Amino acid sequence: MSYFLEGSLNPKTIQDFVGQHHILENLKIFIQAAKKRKEALDHILFHGPPGLGKTTLAHIVANELRVNLTVTSGSVLDKPGDLAGLLIHLKINDVIFIDEIHRLSPIVEEYLYSAMENYKIDIIIDSGSNARSVQIDLSPFTLIGSTTRSGLLTDPMRSRFGINFRLSYYEKELLNNIVNRSAKLLNIPITKEASHEISNRSRGTPRIANALLRRIRDFAQIKGNGIIDLHICNLGLQSLNVDQHGLDEMDNRILSYIIDHFKGGPVGINTIATAVSENSDTIEEVYEPFLIQEGYLIRTPRGRKATKLAYKHIKRNFKKIN
Ligand code: ADP
Repeated sequence: MSYFLEGSLNPKTIQDFVGQHHILENLKIFIQAAKKRKEALDHILFHGPPGLGKTTLAHIVANELRVNLTVTSGSVLDKPGDLAGLLIHLKINDVIFIDEIHRLSPIVEEYLYSAMENYKIDIIIDSGSNARSVQIDLSPFTLIGSTTRSGLLTDPMRSRFGINFRLSYYEKELLNNIVNRSAKLLNIPITKEASHEISNRSRGTPRIANALLRRIRDFAQIKGNGIIDLHICNLGLQSLNVDQHGLDEMDNRILSYIIDHFKGGPVGINTIATAVSENSDTIEEVYEPFLIQEGYLIRTPRGRKATKLAYKHIKRNFKKIN
């Protein structure tokens, strides 16, 4: 019997983390050097599409540095006071992780600058006519920022990160390693063919690979004999509306819309978002990067255009319509 919680699929050390080799090799050096000097590691920015391991890496960095990690998000830090409350509790060389850092309000962002640069913040004490601002020293700390939209970060914010890494989609072989590692942790037998199939259809994204594995495990345990083989795998993927190329229902709706209603585009992101009833941020952060990388979509100054591959994928005649 397995006592593993599902969250324990998260790699805890650099060694456990699959892929992103270039980032890990650099991180190892920076972490060792900071430890040797007994200094805070420089601030790090991780950017790239969701589900590729940015949060996991932040946990790993803190773990490897043997310091505490405070986790927060740009969307919940409304006021400078919210941020100050977290910063003053950091101990020497601790790590604070701000997810969705592009969502910080300008006033909180500006407040962060001097904290990042000099480990100092101004706080207002007392109120009314007695109110005054005092500067307090913080413990040296590392800020790890994560964003799916690095283009939305201001230049002053971006320039305050000494270390800047872009995570990229995972090759199928690496995803296959992740699927097998997760299956082992979940104690679920899986055939070679099935793990390849899941990897091929996971949009290059570990989070999706793990989610598909968990759902297909349900099919294996209820409709099969507890083993994930190719038959069960295909049954599960079909029920989950994941097509042969790993595109899901929303990907296909986006492509169909551009092709059927706009003769392949170009069409603006907001028009697409309204038509497919999805938030335009989600389309830009989640769907579009993968569709572009796989060659189904291109971005032009006038909007998004479907490619020949997209026509083929949704079975429309490219020449006839364009
Ligand atoms: P992000 O912060 O980029 O959205 P997360 O760090 O939350 O992504 O990762 C999503 C899930 O994928 C996590 O549950 C983690 O276990 C898994 N994961 C991500 N990257 C890897 C990796 N390189 N190796 C193994 N599992 C990974």
